[in-house]
Amino acid sequence: MICLKIYNTLTRKIEEFIPREENKVKLYTCGPTVYHYAHIGNIRNYIGHDIFDKTLRYLGYDVTRAMNITDVGHLTSDSDSGEDKMEVARKREGKTSMEIAKFYTEAFFNDFAKVNCKMPEIVSPATENIEMYIKIITKLLEDGYAYESGGNVYFDISKLENYYVLTNNQEDDLVVGARESVEEDSNKRNQADFALWFTTSKFENHELTWDSPWGVGYPGWHIECSGISIKYLGEYLDVHGGGVDNIFPHHTNEIAQSESYLGHKWCNYWFHNEHLLDETGKMSKSKGEFLTVSLLEEKGYDPLAFRFMCLNSHYRKQLVFSYDALDQASSTLQKLKKKIASLSTDGEVDTEKFDLYKNKFIEEISNDLNTSNALTVMYNLLKDTEVNDITKRSLIEDFDKVFSLDLLKEESIDIDSDLEKEIEGKIKERAEAKKNKDFAKADAIRDELLSKGVKLIDSREGTTYELI
Ligand code: AMP
Ligand code: ZN
Repeated sequence: MICLKIYNTLTRKIEEFIPREENKVKLYTCGPTVYHYAHIGNIRNYIGHDIFDKTLRYLGYDVTRAMNITDVGHLTSDSDSGEDKMEVARKREGKTSMEIAKFYTEAFFNDFAKVNCKMPEIVSPATENIEMYIKIITKLLEDGYAYESGGNVYFDISKLENYYVLTNNQEDDLVVGARESVEEDSNKRNQADFALWFTTSKFENHELTWDSPWGVGYPGWHIECSGISIKYLGEYLDVHGGGVDNIFPHHTNEIAQSESYLGHKWCNYWFHNEHLLDETGKMSKSKGEFLTVSLLEEKGYDPLAFRFMCLNSHYRKQLVFSYDALDQASSTLQKLKKKIASLSTDGEVDTEKFDLYKNKFIEEISNDLNTSNALTVMYNLLKDTEVNDITKRSLIEDFDKVFSLDLLKEESIDIDSDLEKEIEGKIKERAEAKKNKDFAKADAIRDELLSKGVKLIDSREGTTYELI
């Protein structure tokens, strides 16, 4: 099996990916908080995870992937102060938490499917696993890793030597930045301790509550991912991921409570996607107005143009969204699909060339998921005159198992009539120029089109063109 190399936040290195069990991968993705629509930044994160998931499967791994749906416990601070985001939505919309969760979960998976993200094998809402969190918290209390105070249960980070293992064993900028937004909590022994279970009167209006050995209340956000992951994927995890903002406090706390509960190392690889930004910085739901995949679609964009835009950059690099960039991605994707549609289906696949290009593709995609280089392999393939059309088609079909851009789906090719009209007009203008022996003008028109990726082909029958 080809070895995948992947950046591991835990070691801050690109490493060879070796799952615990040969050929089998257990993958966990932190799911959305369903108090609002997912913005295109969230979706970029899930596209990154989808590429990882599909690359593993492409390379032959048997992957089991789980994802939670956060429908309780995620406070506005991402820590222990502020209000449950579901409560914010409840007040905003005058509905029950479960109605809100249902609505935004459906909206999320709608957009998720529009950008061709594959459903994880297991998807579980936080509210459906309360008994698992109670089991973990009970043991953490018994073993002295947690304490009750002011009605809440907190994890005592002083019990760990390596609490900051994911942030390089230090309170780096990420940690300090995250802490600054959090109010003091006099119930905590150490302000860096974090809540496992809330019951205090501060949250008395909380709609969703459950009985627990520590009183009626609800779970903290971090415990849900530990609980769901351990419940569905077992005591060992190969990869766990989210956006870079999840590194602290969410994933740091997940490691602390999971490993204290299990008594051993829990997850070997931590995978984090960089953010999508807008002109004002990180795209976030709390900013009020934000862009969704469905909104882009309403504006006439193909959601896969957004996926294509994401694939053109590396998942560990910040990406700035702009309509210009999306327009560019849309038109390049259209050209690409047209070009692919024009490939003949006759003849036989040249296995030697097939293997040659498949290996080039694997080399790039397995190098820390270098999607933009993998796309370049495809462009080079399309240009290669030594490779016949049917081999090109089969290879593109194969690459699209990872890209998931519907590259061979004819019905998704929207004839860009404006571009077509422009080209036809230029061809006529050029023919006219040639007739008038104005060859400089004719050549200028040919070069202009070439710079736009349109190659003119002259023959006795006239001039046709090819998109390159
Ligand atoms: P949330 O629904 O807020 O819990 O976020 C869902 C996922 O999206 C989390 O894993 C976040 O890390 C990620 N995320 C949030 N904002 C962005 C962004 N602007 N760009 C990329 N990923 C993001
Ligand atoms: Zn999580």
